Amino acid sequence: FLQGRTALVTGSTSGIGLAIAQALSAAGARVAINGLGSEEQIQAALKSVTDAGSEARHFDADLRKPDQITGMLEAVQSWGQVDVLVNCAGIQHAAPLAEQPAQKWDDVIAINLSAAFHTMQHALPGMAERGYGRVLNIASVHGLVASKNKAPYVASKFGIVGLSKVAALEYAAAGSRESGGVTVNCICPGWVETPLIEPQIQAHRNGGSRDDGVRALLEEKQPSLRMSLPEDIAAMAVWLCRRESHNVTGAAMPMDGAWTAQ
Ligand code: NAD
Repeated sequence: FLQGRTALVTGSTSGIGLAIAQALSAAGARVAINGLGSEEQIQAALKSVTDAGSEARHFDADLRKPDQITGMLEAVQSWGQVDVLVNCAGIQHAAPLAEQPAQKWDDVIAINLSAAFHTMQHALPGMAERGYGRVLNIASVHGLVASKNKAPYVASKFGIVGLSKVAALEYAAAGSRESGGVTVNCICPGWVETPLIEPQIQAHRNGGSRDDGVRALLEEKQPSLRMSLPEDIAAMAVWLCRRESHNVTGAAMPMDGAWTAQ
């Protein structure tokens, strides 16, 4: 159902973003991938996205740099108008507030929050003109509730939930049921098996195995005691792109094993 559409997924050389890029490709969209990594990692990511069904290209940009974001958007838009924008790039630095380096604060806010502002500012007007557009911001349960030792991360994720609600309101009346409308939503995952959380798994091993570390992390916060896999998040992302989801906008949808139900 996404044939003829173009998607841009930031942070799609790894983890959740890569799974979303693959799923959108399987649904028919041409996919612009972005993210850091070695040449081999980028080529492997590209191959897996094209193998899923559609054309894909990698667009370079360090998302800490607004001018590089603008350059990336211009390059993508000369390839295809952005119909689906997924802001997935993200970093984390766990430490008590008093020990957070100021540079980490700046980097986390730049990548997890400001980059989404810049990409949305470029992409949303065109979506409104064409009557169809989807912005999916990959926030976190930490956009809904806090945890200790994550001051910049939690601030960035609450920020992107707020930013998404403003954009949802401003574009709510764009398009129609037939064209699909323009929607802006956050997906708020709990723990997902990706490289991002590996340091936290290791920190929870307490001398035991990696599985012990995973169990300890889940027992602390996620009542289902199951990790999500990146493809679980991707399935929700694809559903949000469907025409029938035209009235789901301004939402922050948890996929968190009842973490935020407590
Ligand atoms: P990951 O580390 O596997 O992937 C992060 C991606 O962001 C990579 O492609 C990386 O290259 C890219 N990136 C990082 N810095 C960048 C920069 N300066 N410029 C461009 N790209 C950059 O992590 P993930 O777990 O897949 O995380 C994806 C998103 O999901 C993040 O926003 C994260 O906060 C969110 N999230 C993850 C979890 C989890 O448990 N893994 C839970 C909730 C939310």
